[in-house]
Amino acid sequence: MAAHGSPRGSPRVHDLCPSLDSTKSPNDRNSYRLIRLDSGVEALLISSSDENKQKSACACSVQAGSFSDPMKCQGLAHYCEHMVFLGSKRYPGESQFEEFLSENGGESNAYTECEYTCLYFEVNRKALHQALHMFAELLHEPLFTPDASSRELQAIESEFQKKRRSDRVRAETLFASFASQGHPWRIFGWGNLQSLDADPKAQGIDLHAELGEFFRHHYKACRMRLSVFGVESLDSLESAVANAFSVIPPSFGEQLDFASHGLPLHSKDLPRLVRVRPISDGHVLWMSWQLPSQLGHYQSKPASYLSSLIGDEGHGSILSLLKDRGWATDLTAGAGGDNFTNSSNSMIFSVEITLTVNGLTNWTEVATTVFQYLDVLKGDLPSYLYEEKKQMAECSFRFLQEKDPGDMVIDMSERMLPLYKHQADHLLTGPWMYADFREDLVRSILTSLSARGCFFMLMSSSYGRAGGLEPTDATTTSDSQQGDDEARGVDPGFAELAGCKPQVEPYFGTEYWDCRIEDTTLSRWETLNAMEKMHVPPPNQFIATDFSILKQNVEKEEELACRPSIYTGFPSIQRLLPSPQCLEDVRAGLKLWHVPCAAHFKQPRSQVSVKMHSPYYALDANNVRKGVLLELYILCFNDSLNEMLYAAGKARLHCAVSSSPTHGLTIRAGGFSQKLLCLVESTLRARKLEEYATRFDRFQAMHEALLRSYKNEWLKPQVHCSDLRKLLLMPSMPRPAMKEAQLSTCGSEQLMDFAQNFNSEMGCELLVSGNTPKDTFLDWATAVFDGYTLAPQTKVEVDVVQLPVGSATVWMQTAVDTTQSNSAVEIYFQLPGRDAWHWQEDQARVRVLLALLEDVMYESLFDELRTKQQLGYSVGCSLRDSFGVPGLRLRI
Ligand SMILES: [Zn+2]
Repeated sequence: MAAHGSPRGSPRVHDLCPSLDSTKSPNDRNSYRLIRLDSGVEALLISSSDENKQKSACACSVQAGSFSDPMKCQGLAHYCEHMVFLGSKRYPGESQFEEFLSENGGESNAYTECEYTCLYFEVNRKALHQALHMFAELLHEPLFTPDASSRELQAIESEFQKKRRSDRVRAETLFASFASQGHPWRIFGWGNLQSLDADPKAQGIDLHAELGEFFRHHYKACRMRLSVFGVESLDSLESAVANAFSVIPPSFGEQLDFASHGLPLHSKDLPRLVRVRPISDGHVLWMSWQLPSQLGHYQSKPASYLSSLIGDEGHGSILSLLKDRGWATDLTAGAGGDNFTNSSNSMIFSVEITLTVNGLTNWTEVATTVFQYLDVLKGDLPSYLYEEKKQMAECSFRFLQEKDPGDMVIDMSERMLPLYKHQADHLLTGPWMYADFREDLVRSILTSLSARGCFFMLMSSSYGRAGGLEPTDATTTSDSQQGDDEARGVDPGFAELAGCKPQVEPYFGTEYWDCRIEDTTLSRWETLNAMEKMHVPPPNQFIATDFSILKQNVEKEEELACRPSIYTGFPSIQRLLPSPQCLEDVRAGLKLWHVPCAAHFKQPRSQVSVKMHSPYYALDANNVRKGVLLELYILCFNDSLNEMLYAAGKARLHCAVSSSPTHGLTIRAGGFSQKLLCLVESTLRARKLEEYATRFDRFQAMHEALLRSYKNEWLKPQVHCSDLRKLLLMPSMPRPAMKEAQLSTCGSEQLMDFAQNFNSEMGCELLVSGNTPKDTFLDWATAVFDGYTLAPQTKVEVDVVQLPVGSATVWMQTAVDTTQSNSAVEIYFQLPGRDAWHWQEDQARVRVLLALLEDVMYESLFDELRTKQQLGYSVGCSLRDSFGVPGLRLRI
């Protein structure tokens, strides 16, 4: 450990890892230094010398999260996180820090995890030193004024009311409520008025005193991990950090220990099956297992290897087999990146399966498929799949893509926490490390994924829905004497619960039934034969081997010279990239654009966009039925590509098909350039859904999924409210109920007809940017579109209402979910003119001014409506582009 005096005589700092900078990616132009101040604060300094960069950023992770909440004040860590930013002794204004950031192009935010709290800000680079001072003062002596305290409690309550309507949060909280007595999982970390105000008051506890005590006890130098990004030298950053944080008194030792709490669930409570009522329409099965913490294995990542096998979507995978039977539409596997599923006391490994109605009826068979696959893995854990992961991680690291400064400092300050166990010289490389294939560790996880150690959760709208919303997919045999509380589901096991009232989770009010699993079922899951079709993924064909980068075209470079602005007094404009070049003399109806810019980004990657403009659809875009069929078509198209795209994704290639109301269909693809065009070609080949025609179960599952998404579309007040605005502006936009009605009368025949007509004639436009040579692109496109009937198409304009000047329209609607306690309001201002969004400088003016207005307004809007008046938890303003018509929206 080298110690050296700081240039300005501020406190001494210690360099914790002099070799750190040599571990960075060859593509990384930043410099790094890891230091510890005498006080015990550790900081990672990230210096950029790129004069084009405007933003600096800083994050501080403090080792104190909701696991540290006292039982008498649950939610205190979260509450403390909200309070810290509201004024310090040195800078007492409640919004002084926020105003300073806003005046300097920045903003702040924070979040509370189980074992830590992360607070961060971004600001223009020239204001970094002052912002660091203000930030350090907040972390040293926040004011915690009584006035702000009571208002911020309301913000916590609003946040809770919002989260309360999230099925995912409800499921997680319910799961945590099954933890053993005394385990920190049982703490209600969100907090609300009940847990932070009413309960403490009833016990004569002074919340304000508790808050002060919590802060003094936990926000200490030795618990702080800081990461700072600045466009200045490392020495300059070092002295800025040392000076600003010299206000925080030294403290040492005393790390938190949550590992000793051990696994959250008592083994006698497993296996367990819990059936849950959701808010949304849908059916989900979670199978979850608790394992000892895996954070110490970041170098070999056994859990990540295993989750990529179980979560595989290619041929022979669990999902592929479930889809073939029409039982599921989605599957994810593994532990999340969050601190709840990956903590110092446990890792929660889950398989989450989105079921169809048929899948719900056969859910025990769905689980059987999972256990069968786990059995296959016990016999076959191929090391080539590990090598593939390693190879792709190395490529991603070698050609590291630049990250936003804010995201970068957050990631780094988290990774520095002792909880994540990273060696100092692995701080920059940790996420990309696949040191060696530890089959022993993988097997030990695999052994834990047993039927008897599993926590099953079934969430289904056939059990009824939260707050009395109509159940869906429930069989309507009302011959029994039970009240409507016991709607019979299509899940056969649920019928046996007839007459049983659900239990209620106390904080979120989630209704559930704690059920038994038959011993015969468990034994069946333990003695299985693997299905023939099941197998681990074969070697991946999409993995790139050629990473050479195209040279920059010299004549293109001339284009990058500075051009004077057309506005007097404005600086001249430096173009970063050459403009796209339209390749001449291709076929009529086929337009090709090319931008070679790989050398600029030093990346062997390309991006491809394909616009397919079909007159069959576009000239009739207001036809609700065609609109619905297009959405169904896109959904099935993506589904038919899924097995291929999943493998491509593992090779860092992505490709997705989406619908567009102006022309029809867009394909966007990107990634390492070598095999990218080949992927787009295979995608295009599947466009007529020929394979899909014979797969009726799959069609049925997609049809069901789309119907469900229409039913859930307006459940969230904010989405409903935004859609009302869109309806005012574009009356031709169909409401979810209209789409639902049309879709229920569309079968697979209609879909196949649509696919055929859609593809019978079209105009195509392609843009390729990055590392693909012009000639390669031209030859490829000529060959691929050879068999297409192509014709030039004219752009179809979507009608947008011009709002009358001098009058206002108010539209009010009751929430779809009438038990909802949240409301949403939007105020929209329309600007005159259309097509003001092109990127020529004279036309970009409106957009720039609106963006500026958004920036100027945001801080005071938030401060007034959220912080002062406490009218709602999420408040914001943003510019809107309604098919070329500019506008500004305020929302709460
Ligand atoms: Zn919060």
